[in-house]
Amino acid sequence: MLRLLLNARVFAPEPLGLRHVLVAGEQIAGLFDAPPDLAGVAVETTDLEGRALVPGLVDAHVHITGGGGEAGYASSVPPIPLSHYTAHGVTSVVGLLGTDDVTRSTENLVARAYALRQEGLSAWCWTGGYAVPPRTLSGDVRRDIVFVDPIVGCAEIAISDHRSSQPTFDELARLAAACHTAGMISGKAGVLHFHLGDGARGLDFVRRLRRDTEVPARTLMPTHVNRNPDLFDEALRLVREDGVGVDVTAFPDDEHLAPALSAPDAVERFWNAGLPDALLTLTSDAGGSLPTFDATGNLVKMGVAAPDALLATLQTLLRRGHPLERILPTMTATPAARLRLHAKGRIAAGYDADLVVLDDDDALVSTMARGRWHVLDGQQIVRGTFEH
Ligand SMILES: [Zn+2]
Repeated sequence: MLRLLLNARVFAPEPLGLRHVLVAGEQIAGLFDAPPDLAGVAVETTDLEGRALVPGLVDAHVHITGGGGEAGYASSVPPIPLSHYTAHGVTSVVGLLGTDDVTRSTENLVARAYALRQEGLSAWCWTGGYAVPPRTLSGDVRRDIVFVDPIVGCAEIAISDHRSSQPTFDELARLAAACHTAGMISGKAGVLHFHLGDGARGLDFVRRLRRDTEVPARTLMPTHVNRNPDLFDEALRLVREDGVGVDVTAFPDDEHLAPALSAPDAVERFWNAGLPDALLTLTSDAGGSLPTFDATGNLVKMGVAAPDALLATLQTLLRRGHPLERILPTMTATPAARLRLHAKGRIAAGYDADLVVLDDDDALVSTMARGRWHVLDGQQIVRGTFEH
């Protein structure tokens, strides 16, 4: 099946101007200055009329099985249906387990990644969960990364958090080494992805892993670093002094989440600090629960983080005047490169046809995942198996 997208203002993420994009099957076949001559060939043509065409969003921290479970059995979040990703431009996800790595399993997580692939998305996952020793499929982090196709690393190991397993430095050092060597053997990313809590130890362990072991900086990826201002300052120092890339969580804009820095604020502070763009990624934490407590600590409301957070952050940063080509890499090319998701995160010949069309108001018009329109002209045309 050939699809020709005419008059696309392409951001690859770098701006390429007006191009005509040919999609063959699941891949981008080429970008042309003039419409290619396809006389006699069956081709579906869509005229984008100069609208922006950007890479499908890559969300590297998603509770694809549903997360939660921190307020009793009934607080376990159900899986996120397919359309909730594509409606908001997300075409690649990396799933993980969180606090509840007891009733949830790596087997279930891997199966959910395969399910999303069957439904047309691109999906991977992290082995492990909050606890050390980590929940795994094969009994061993290295074997999981080396032998299980969708598994790219280990996450989200909780540190500086009352919900962590209180791992020791030596345990974390061995885990980081396991990820690093498994990445070398498999050619995968082999990243150790940390959940950061509000604990006073902050990023101590991560900094020590760089200073007291030989584990390379690219192996380490702390997230939720914008959950409080002190932690974020520490994260900026970690980037500057230790070369470790940090991941910002796109917490929903909600006063109950204070003192967290919003993702747009955190991104601006990162840019203002003059740090390398390649060391900043953004993720949604979608599927994680968002409990709201009253003044006496009682649960009054249970929300769920949603896959719309990346697009919302992109739109906010655009409204604040930042150029699309500066914003896009944080949620496309950079996480794809960081996690070695080949042929993802860019618009180029040979890359997967994961594409998002934005209108002049920065609203999402269409989403293509692996060469197939999931959203077209504002209509959700592909839904998950149980969404009808
Ligand atoms: Zn987390």
